[in-house]
Amino acid sequence: QRLITAAAGAEDNTLEQAIRPRRLRDYVGQPAVREQMEIFIGAARARAEALDHVLIFGPPGLGKTTLSHIIAHEMQVNLRQTSGPVLEKPGDLAALLTNLEPGDVLFIDEIHRLSPVVEEVLYPAMEDYQLDIMIGEGPAARSIKLDLPPFTLVGATTRAGLLTSPLRDRFGIVQRLEYYTAEDLAQIVMRSAQILGIAAEPAGAAEIARRARGTPRIANRLLRRVRDYAQVRGDGRITAAIADQALTLLKVDARGLDHLDRRLLSTIIDKFDGGPVGVESLATAIGEERGTIEDVIEPFLIQQGFMMRTPRGRVATALAYQYLGLPAKSLPTS
Ligand code: ADP
Repeated sequence: QRLITAAAGAEDNTLEQAIRPRRLRDYVGQPAVREQMEIFIGAARARAEALDHVLIFGPPGLGKTTLSHIIAHEMQVNLRQTSGPVLEKPGDLAALLTNLEPGDVLFIDEIHRLSPVVEEVLYPAMEDYQLDIMIGEGPAARSIKLDLPPFTLVGATTRAGLLTSPLRDRFGIVQRLEYYTAEDLAQIVMRSAQILGIAAEPAGAAEIARRARGTPRIANRLLRRVRDYAQVRGDGRITAAIADQALTLLKVDARGLDHLDRRLLSTIIDKFDGGPVGVESLATAIGEERGTIEDVIEPFLIQQGFMMRTPRGRVATALAYQYLGLPAKSLPTS
């Protein structure tokens, strides 16, 4: 189990309920997203209308679910939550849609994983608040049309490119979440520590923040592990030194990289001469799924400048060689 995976585990799910911000003003960082949402929500509320449909994309753990909860809370409406793979049949989605009250938010996580038949139900629902669905099979089958209350669909996905264009085009508001700065993450860690009753010094929070891969979920998880260490090896206080010792023990290095990141980078360099190498070959070489590389491992490595995505494949940068203590790749001379 990878400590710095951005995917939520069971422990994250329970604890995240307690520390998830509920108001826009508590949503740390993402200044552009916050400012825009403040305006759109304010305007929709003033007109007493449902907010336009919102697409949120960004790597796991960056606050997509949190933002959807905040939207519902700020709009003072109910939130219904589901996810793409859960909606197997058009009827599953129809059941949710027909239970909405005016203005409600329907949050569909992993919306890129909707099956095409379910996605088709969504088009008229989003566009005209119309449900257009076939019931029954064979000669008895008939189509029914129903009016739906105005509602807001909030869709979340890791990459915008995964969506079909008819679906993407039906969102009036598109928000892209960026990796958080260390300062923002330190603020998130301090806030979580306060809620969970953990004594954390700002320097300790900053050390955790630096090693949390720009991701709030990882920052909160590292906070909990460092707390364990502080209780057993220290006096319970999270200082910079305690955080550093704990994270070093947990093999999260000073840049927030772990064995999987290092393995990916060294594989590109050792097995593929630094690249370019196709993502499929890379996935086979390190024994991970292609999706894990694309969604979880590589976005942070690319953002940090350790590797590049080129039309011909993935390439390790000079920074990767330097990081792994290797001499830089000599370029062929002509
Ligand atoms: P995603 O849906 O993108 O995978 P979540 O919304 O579940 O991510 O966020 C994971 C956790 O990180 C949340 O429980 C929340 O505590 C924290 N978090 C995310 N974004 C923020 C933020 N902007 N400010 C404070 N905490 C945040």
